[in-house]
Amino acid sequence: MSEDHPRRANKRERQAHNHDENVGEALCLEINPLLCNGHGICVLMAPDLLALDPWGFPVQLSERLVIRELGAANRAIKACPQAALSLKKTTP
Ligand code: SF4
Repeated sequence: MSEDHPRRANKRERQAHNHDENVGEALCLEINPLLCNGHGICVLMAPDLLALDPWGFPVQLSERLVIRELGAANRAIKACPQAALSLKKTTP
């Protein structure tokens, strides 16, 4: 399909060195595309976790959050005017 977003690839490389920092429950940021209208505030609040696609909508840069990323993830969730972001458990 399409190529991986360059920042997502960089993020994956960094996470390969941070296995022990993974959140115990394996969480990720989930974007509800039905609610998101592309304000982009979330990307400003969590630039290491989210990026804008060519149409101005956010994409996740990581499939799993590490502990030190939870603060930025929660700031993005709280800043979203559409309540389109949430934390979701992932399968390990
Ligand atoms: S802040 Fe919310 S509505 Fe705006 S781009 Fe991010 S997820 Fe979408």
